[in-house]
Amino acid sequence: MAELSKYTKELEKLFSAAGNILIICHINPDGDAIGSQLALYHYLTSKGKKVDMISPNNLQEFLKWMDGADLINIFIRQRSLCHKLIREADLIIMVDFNQPDRLGEAEKPVIGSGAARVIIDHHRDPHNFADLIISDETRCATSEIIYDLLTGLNGGLPRSKTIAEALYIGIITDTGNFDHGSYTYRTFGIVADLLRTGIEKEKINELIYNNFTVDRMKLLGHALSERMVVLPEYQTAYIYLTKDDLKRFNHIKGDTEGFVNMPLSIKSVVFSSLFIEKDGFIKISFRSKGTFPVNEFAAKYFSGGGHMNASGGEYPGSLEDSIRYFVNVLEDSYMRFIKKAGK
Ligand code: 5GP
Ligand code: MN
Repeated sequence: MAELSKYTKELEKLFSAAGNILIICHINPDGDAIGSQLALYHYLTSKGKKVDMISPNNLQEFLKWMDGADLINIFIRQRSLCHKLIREADLIIMVDFNQPDRLGEAEKPVIGSGAARVIIDHHRDPHNFADLIISDETRCATSEIIYDLLTGLNGGLPRSKTIAEALYIGIITDTGNFDHGSYTYRTFGIVADLLRTGIEKEKINELIYNNFTVDRMKLLGHALSERMVVLPEYQTAYIYLTKDDLKRFNHIKGDTEGFVNMPLSIKSVVFSSLFIEKDGFIKISFRSKGTFPVNEFAAKYFSGGGHMNASGGEYPGSLEDSIRYFVNVLEDSYMRFIKKAGK
């Protein structure tokens, strides 16, 4: 879907009819989820709308400084307030996800609500859980879609540093600072326009990328030297981190962001995974270079999803079992892919 302007009228109607607007992002929100949410929030409040925001769970540390982030209500910490906000909303805008289970505990009340629901997202094959689905998988970030939508609305995108900063963060984080993902010439046109507002890209870069603790740097060193396994026969590498590893390096939310991309810089590694031990399950991130579809891999074997080159999922068991299972299904799935691709 290339043409977003066909949604302009419908969005304008929904915005003007709504008394209480609620914007909600996906569980474990990344920079694009929060950037999209805050950009819409600042836009709609600047138009005099009453807007609330919910995230299913906590924000990563490196996103908490963003303008308006402190106004995002955390569902698992403020359950009764969030239930009330969902009940009272007459328009719910869901950003950066395509499946209702990405709402975490907020899924049931949001899906049961009588509010009009809109999805704005860039993941493939959105499930049908909204009245209006604005989805374009050719976009590198939901923030890029929101830029185009707001630009097309009556009055256009206000020249606001706050909105521009949120959209810019969505775009840089979902493309790994223009390193991967589906960024295009359009992305740079949008970024040029955002920079024109005077946002301070050096400050933003410092706060997003150079704002970690010493412990996080040591955890990364530990992950790469002690916890990375390379499987050259599958052009694959994986990293695993135990609960004890995380505890030893005083892990805080967001510390492992980016770890999964690192093995992809090894020559000939095209598929990378990161296994993190949680309470009662394993959270796994997948990344690939080229055409190995890690979203299909995550969906088929790990109840997950995402994009072709970046996805995630879960395993309901021990770390050892999850890795054993991974290596088993890798043989099946990855080798089949390689043979099919004729590599
Ligand atoms: P990350 O590895 O950074 O957590 O996630 C990478 C991509 O995979 C994101 O686009 C995210 O939305 C998606 N993703 C991560 N975990 C899950 C999951 O458990 N289920 C689904 N459907 N998508 C996920
Ligand atoms: Mn995104």
